[in-house]
Amino acid sequence: MKRLLSKALVAVKHLPALIIVLGVAAGLLLGLRAFWLSDARIVLRDTAIAMIADRLAGEGVPIDVPHSTNDDQIFLVYNTFTNAPLLAEWAYQIVPFFATEHVGGRIYPEVIILAPFVMERSFVVAGNTDCEGRRVNVNDRFLDDQADLLTTLTHELIHDQMGNFCTPPDGYSGDRSVWVESHTTTATVEVTAAMCRYGNQIACQSFWQQISQLARRSVQAKLGRAHLSWLYQFWMGVTMRDHLEDVRAEKMVRFWAGNQDELQGIVERYGELPWETMVSPGICGEVLNTGVIQWSRGFLVGHILGMPFDDSRAMFGRLGTALFCVTR
Ligand SMILES: [Zn+2]
Repeated sequence: MKRLLSKALVAVKHLPALIIVLGVAAGLLLGLRAFWLSDARIVLRDTAIAMIADRLAGEGVPIDVPHSTNDDQIFLVYNTFTNAPLLAEWAYQIVPFFATEHVGGRIYPEVIILAPFVMERSFVVAGNTDCEGRRVNVNDRFLDDQADLLTTLTHELIHDQMGNFCTPPDGYSGDRSVWVESHTTTATVEVTAAMCRYGNQIACQSFWQQISQLARRSVQAKLGRAHLSWLYQFWMGVTMRDHLEDVRAEKMVRFWAGNQDELQGIVERYGELPWETMVSPGICGEVLNTGVIQWSRGFLVGHILGMPFDDSRAMFGRLGTALFCVTR
């Protein structure tokens, strides 16, 4: 009885310490839980992805694309009129992958023109197409990186496959460009993954560049909403940019000064949105609704093609995919 009493007294003596330890542990757990449920988890994950993907992409490689600068010299390459034959040749290598990747594959460009874009578009738009006219324009300012050029061309050729890449479905009341751009951006990721898996080294670079850029946009959007854009700029400056990129980025920051809301909107709609609502779900097993109707041997089969992300998953590897999906 006496021993029991002395044990109880010891326990009471240590009670405050015990309460403190339990309190700290509970606080840590609650903090971890709040972190896990907040944007901070995604910011941390996407920061890591952006840096790893940037490493895997490697340095940009400039490319010389011979092209004529006057109307008299337009070449016919296969069935495409162009002033830059190399781009037409690339197009005929890219489009067949649309068939294996379920984004169409029946539609080839009628015209591909490599030319300077005018006004502000010269700096911010790498390419465009009018979908239905199948005319693809590529901005000649962006020849400083062959992988970037492949991404642009693939992106524009996917727009031309119609479906959700060109027109939103009936009854959709949002912004057309947000709809078609997020579908096209997402499909471009998987098509370049497929091309890489088939042995095209430029496509491998292109894939990792896109993953790095989308993850960066996700971080930029979230830090922007938290009024921490300076932290994003600091991170980019320290880890990702060489000197020329730095000077350019600094120039673009001045260009956007006073239009911060507009920039934030662009980053959210064209980067964060496709990354979170389409690319990430795709990598974690969902299928992208392309809106493109399937044809087989010249006949309309009738059902809408869904695009699985098997090649992107293979690029991430089993462990990478598992880690990525568990933190979603
Ligand atoms: Zn586009």
